Amino acid sequence: MAHSHDHNHVSGKKLFWTIIFNLIITIAEFIGGILSGYLALIADAVHNLSDVAALILAWLGAKGSELPATKKSTYGFLRIEVMTAFISAVSLVVISIFIMSEAYDRFFNPQELKYPIMFISVSVIGLIGNIVSILLLLSEKGKSLNMKTAFLHMTYDALSSVAVIIGGIVIIMTDIYIIDVFLSFVIALMILWSSYSVLKEAVLIFLEAVPPEIDFDKVHNEMMSIEKIKDVHDLHIWSLSSKEIALSCHICVDDSDLSDGPTLTRKINSMLKEKFKIGHGTIQVETHECDNSELLCNHTHNGKHHSH
Ligand SMILES: [Zn+2]
Ligand SMILES: [Zn+2]
Ligand SMILES: [Zn+2]
Ligand SMILES: [Zn+2]
Repeated sequence: MAHSHDHNHVSGKKLFWTIIFNLIITIAEFIGGILSGYLALIADAVHNLSDVAALILAWLGAKGSELPATKKSTYGFLRIEVMTAFISAVSLVVISIFIMSEAYDRFFNPQELKYPIMFISVSVIGLIGNIVSILLLLSEKGKSLNMKTAFLHMTYDALSSVAVIIGGIVIIMTDIYIIDVFLSFVIALMILWSSYSVLKEAVLIFLEAVPPEIDFDKVHNEMMSIEKIKDVHDLHIWSLSSKEIALSCHICVDDSDLSDGPTLTRKINSMLKEKFKIGHGTIQVETHECDNSELLCNHTHNGKHHSH
């Protein structure tokens, strides 16, 4: 039976302009950073470049999760979003480690900065671009894992742009080049920190973990509290994507209540949707004690317990 899953549609046009804006900022910052020798500006550019990549991946992910299910991929391509978020987070970790090693080198070999007016203006353009990006993405915030990632990045970038501008001015006035090393390090740490939560969320989805916002016992108790349900076992709850949760379980009823099966499953599914936003429940109705009547099933038995 065909059924529809709720999806939040990400505005492609806004994402497109955010990508273009960030691409321009990135190129300007790269040129400015390399010409002046200001590592913090290069770090900011690298960061922006990874943001552009993340945004393109976010766009691909949004497109991918809208693709219809096929007979070979029955959930559609929901997890493309999780996969792309994972890939961009991993590349951010690699990039931030690279910046840190550059900063480490500069700690021992401080470099004089050239073209002060040029690199300060480039940094200011970077900041303006970041603010525009934040405004563009503001309405998309919280819609999906990738959009959340993108929005957080934009905010960090605006903050680091401000630091890069102030740092640059102070270096020009005081010749304290260690500020550059410090700023580059902090920017790299910020990238690492923001990548961590995305990595964690993506890995939990890949591991089919119970979504953090779902209380397993609470779901179990809610199901048990429905009239005529004698037992609930082999309960699985997992994320299909960052916004879609699936559940499967067996319920036991008395022989005389077997004809109520369809009514009970409908009741459970609407309760799951309403209270836990679980939109994809698969429920097996039984009248007997089955091979595996444990709440948590033991999957080391080659899935034998799933046969009845
Ligand atoms: Zn960023
Ligand atoms: Zn479905
Ligand atoms: Zn069973
Ligand atoms: Zn099972």
